[in-house]
Parts: sequence; structure tokens; C-alpha cells
Amino acid sequence: MTKKDIIIFSAPSGSGKTTILKRLFELNPDRFDFSISATSRAKRDNEIDGKDYYFLSEAEFRKKIANGEFLEWEEVYNGLFYGTLKSEVSRIRSMGKIIAFDVDVNGGISIKNLFKDSALSVFVMPPSIEELRRRLEFRATESTESIAKRIERSAMELAMSEKFDHTILNDDIDLAVAKAQKIINTELK
Ligand code: 5GP
Repeated sequence: MTKKDIIIFSAPSGSGKTTILKRLFELNPDRFDFSISATSRAKRDNEIDGKDYYFLSEAEFRKKIANGEFLEWEEVYNGLFYGTLKSEVSRIRSMGKIIAFDVDVNGGISIKNLFKDSALSVFVMPPSIEELRRRLEFRATESTESIAKRIERSAMELAMSEKFDHTILNDDIDLAVAKAQKIINTELK
């Protein structure tokens, strides 16, 4: 089996994907680095520009689309753009590290199609849509409207899980991290 140098994580919002990724990063600090996406959504209080995302205005985002600067981009929620800059791939590759992507399901499928056998795609599955709603409400980073948008989209996202190489059920964070680590050890460079 050829070892892969790209890992893609996709999941509905609230599935716990970002928590899993933070834990994996702590366990493998020198092995991989995250592609930092660009987004036109507003920064949350706990986020840092240039670390969690490159926060852009919609006009700046559209300019980068026109300039061909994105590997892929999606209007994930109505009026909110998210995308992977090509420069992130060269930045992380030049350090000799595995590239980790945290993108929506469509972005995940696009990146897998671009990199094919060099990439491993992982879908993080929440226990249920009800649990997703509970987590998003508990997290309290989103407005009621934003939670509704995220829940509405989740059914489409769950239906696409079969297109991924692996699915990790996140009903117990320690087990989910252990499963992800095992996949990484087996299949990545
Ligand atoms: P959030 O607003 O909660 O940070 O992210 C919302 C969704 O956008 C998540 O599913 C996240 O993975 C996705 N996302 C983040 N960055 C990108 C990206 O570069 N491309 C795509 N297609 N989706 C992204």
C-alpha cells in the first residue's frame, strides 16, 4: 500500500471534528500541519486571524477566486464562503509535513479527487442529528439562525459519508481520537 501524505477530515458542523483534530495535532506535533482555510464568515471571539482561518471580506474572497488562488472553495452556508488556498499546500509541503485539511464534505470530496491516492479522506460521524443540535447549542458560538442553517445542511452531509475512505463515529471523544490515530499510523507516511 502506498503511504499517503494528505489527510482530509470532513463532517457536519458540531460533530466534534475540530476537537478531534486538535487532539491529533497534540499527539503528532511534528508530523502534520493544518491547511489554514480562508473564510468570509465573521471571526468568533476565541479565534485568531492567520491561525484558525484567514478572515477575509466577501470582496477579498471573490478577488482571490477570480485570481485563481484557491485549490477549492465552497459557499458552505448561504452567503458564507470557505476555501483552501493553493499557497497552503506549498507552505506545508515545503516543511516536509503531512497536510491535514478540515473542510466541508464537498470540499473534502474535491480535494480527494484532486490528490487521489496520495490523500486519505475521513468522515467524522455524529451519533445523531439531535446530538448535533445539542452540541451546537451547548457550544454557544452560533446564533439560532446559524444553528438552524447548520442542522438543515447536516442531512445532505451525512448522506455523503459513503464517499469517504473511512468513517469515525464520534460518540466518545477518546475512542474517536484513538481510531483516527490508528488510521494515521497505518495509512500515512
Ligand atoms: P465553521 O464556520 O464552523 O468554522 O466551518 C463551517 C464548515 O466549513 C465546516 O464544515 C468546515 O470544515 C468548513 N470549511 C472550513 N474551511 C473550509 C475550506 O477551506 N473549504 C471548504 N470547502 N470547507 C471549509
